[in-house]
Amino acid sequence: MKSPLGPNPLIAYLRRHGCVQAGATELVLARETGMCKGVRRALAMVDRAHVSLSSGRGLLLLRPIIHNPTVGRWLKAEGVETVDAESPCWWAALSVSDTVIIPAFGATVTEEAQLRDAGVGIVDTTCPSVRAVWVRVAAYARDGFTTVLHGRPDHPETRATLSRATAGGGHYVVVPDVAGAQALAEAIIRGDSTLPGQFLAPGFHSPGLDPARDLQRLGLVNQTTMLARESLEIADVLRAAARGQFGADAATYFRSFGTICRATQEHQDAVRHLAERSLDLMIVVGGHESSNTRHLAELAAGYVRTVHVEGPEGLLSLRRVRHQPQGSRDAIEADISWLAGRPQRVVGFAGGASTPDAEVGETMVRLLTLLGDPHPLLEENGPWGGEEPAAG
Ligand code: SF4
Repeated sequence: MKSPLGPNPLIAYLRRHGCVQAGATELVLARETGMCKGVRRALAMVDRAHVSLSSGRGLLLLRPIIHNPTVGRWLKAEGVETVDAESPCWWAALSVSDTVIIPAFGATVTEEAQLRDAGVGIVDTTCPSVRAVWVRVAAYARDGFTTVLHGRPDHPETRATLSRATAGGGHYVVVPDVAGAQALAEAIIRGDSTLPGQFLAPGFHSPGLDPARDLQRLGLVNQTTMLARESLEIADVLRAAARGQFGADAATYFRSFGTICRATQEHQDAVRHLAERSLDLMIVVGGHESSNTRHLAELAAGYVRTVHVEGPEGLLSLRRVRHQPQGSRDAIEADISWLAGRPQRVVGFAGGASTPDAEVGETMVRLLTLLGDPHPLLEENGPWGGEEPAAG
């Protein structure tokens, strides 16, 4: 199976020029798009481990290395299996001749100990930006602050981060959105002895958390790929609750540390910048499970009609697209027949931090093919018909 990680000529062109006209369609690429440093680093580490391991020694992933199905299929075709750390006693089948890859999201403290106990080789690809959050959470626990994490409790990065809070003897609450932060703030102000119902579900709070004792001092962090705008709002809500309770002493009781990673911030800024143009459609390409890709689509949808597809196969026909609507965990089919009816159309593209360039480029080609517009790379006399297409 061909590696999906190589360069893509159409994307390389668009990175230099920003846009390209193909027949009646103008394609515009977000100025920051595609795989971030942390993902590229993780995949390079897997590649090195794959090359250096002799045959007969297993190379295993603790869980999918990133949330991109194409990369997952490619690694499987290369013989890299996934352990599935979600299953009970997953470590029991490991042998000392195995090497296990910890993904860029990191692993929990318990999982790391289980790997060490199993005596396997470990390739730890945890992103340095994720480790920076762990340092902050450990400091909160040490200083007697309960961690409030803006994120999804079922995300592997969140679980890895929160394990650093409990390992240090601390507690945590997971706040998924601004409404959750408001509910938590109101409970704190009222002095409730139980958490609001939405935080009672598994994963939303640490075992043994006593609201009366443990919600006095709060320290906020974010899953690294959340919407920055939403994280800032959550900080404001909780800071206001601390001010309401403690007045001038609020800073003693509430700490906040922005842990949205730089790559996430740059991708979000680039998508906002692109979506503010007058586009007919924005296509965000990346895994439906990918947190950062979902947030890019959510951000763009505030400005322009947006679809979130996993790749070219998401464009089913000239009329139908298979995409994941904002706020949903399920992909559905939607109508895009109106796009073909326009004499001229401008379509914006962005790829998530785990999306290979090839997937974005192939989605563009698929769109042009469906619309009947020429694909610039198929022109005669070289990739650009003897000369580069004019940048608009
Ligand atoms: S999105 Fe940020 S935290 Fe996640 S792997 Fe990339 S650089 Fe690291």
